Amino acid sequence: MRRIAILGSTGSIGRSTLSVAESYPDRFQIIALAAGSNVQAAFEQAVRWKPRVISVARETDADSVRKKLRAQGCGEIEVVHGSAGTVRVSTHPEADFVVSAIVGVAGLEATYEAVKAGKTVGLANKECLVAAGELITAEARKQGKPLLPIDSEHNAVHQCMRGGRMEEVQKIWLTASGGPFLKTPKSRFPSITVQQALNHPTWKMGKRITIDSATLMNKGFEVIEACRLFHVPPSQVEVIVHPQSTIHSMVEFIDGSILAQFSVTDMRLPILYALTYPERIQSDLRFPVMDLRQLDFYPPDMQKFRCLKLAYEAAEAGGAKPVALNAADEIAVGAFLEGQIGFDDIPRVIEDVLSATKTGKMESINQVVETDLEARRAARERVERLHRGRSPIPRATSVSCQGE
Ligand code: MG
Repeated sequence: MRRIAILGSTGSIGRSTLSVAESYPDRFQIIALAAGSNVQAAFEQAVRWKPRVISVARETDADSVRKKLRAQGCGEIEVVHGSAGTVRVSTHPEADFVVSAIVGVAGLEATYEAVKAGKTVGLANKECLVAAGELITAEARKQGKPLLPIDSEHNAVHQCMRGGRMEEVQKIWLTASGGPFLKTPKSRFPSITVQQALNHPTWKMGKRITIDSATLMNKGFEVIEACRLFHVPPSQVEVIVHPQSTIHSMVEFIDGSILAQFSVTDMRLPILYALTYPERIQSDLRFPVMDLRQLDFYPPDMQKFRCLKLAYEAAEAGGAKPVALNAADEIAVGAFLEGQIGFDDIPRVIEDVLSATKTGKMESINQVVETDLEARRAARERVERLHRGRSPIPRATSVSCQGE
């Protein structure tokens, strides 16, 4: 029986994890949930899963969830809040597996503490590896516990890696759908609207990651994640555009063999893989191989998608640069979603923040958080200057974006 704690239980990966747990009630038990600010969803999950502990964002939310749970006859569930609450969930003594799926730097400390507490961690939070990858992977090695990627590409690489030894790896091929602007000429980038950028061709995801997929920054982050997870330099990680998103990624070995992983585009599969590793268990997530007709591949256009190039540079520099890359991107994407800057301004903001960031090794999670805050401040200033200098672009009115 895997005893699971989920960081980010009301988000899309969190909900998919619960849906996997629901399908295998005798294999998985939900021990602890960190939910965030969606109080109603947190309450419903607590009633449904009866975890030992549930954490929400604010103290007042914790009070109201506690009261409602008591009224429901679930008063034995411990309700905690804030970052200390998230750490309580991630280090719960009864949990042996932690799914790290809180978006942003908020999930960093709790994930690091989970690794330090000797938990096996399934990673869906990008910041953990992009901003603090060197620290987290070093700690996991020390603990002798695997870090299991839930991100579809790294999950695919992890699976392919089992076909050979580390020293036999020639190259990791990360596939990218190319996003909605694969065929859009660069000259039209300044007029791209929020609505257009949120319209991802293959995956339904949260807003930030959807924009990051449109700029290819998401793939840039994944290059850094791959370097940290699999201990390879950026020169051994190549991005290839594959619009069908059928092949989730590939590993090329020194003898010339290339192993690829493909399956349905459903996050429940990488979650199931991580939760059951090193076993594989029966699922109903079947891929219709007979219907497969065409797989296309193209090299990415680094001049058009400058974010990808910036990410490679940050990956090469390491230390503070990937922290700044992530922080500046989050601010720039937020400003774009708010209509303050244009789509083509996103790499502009990031490039400026990166060049103002000193290189330096990250020695602690605190230092990562400080570097992150500093980069955010710099990015906000840059956004302000750009915002003053431009006319407003049309904003999307009602955009709903949810899912895997
Ligand atoms: Mg991915």
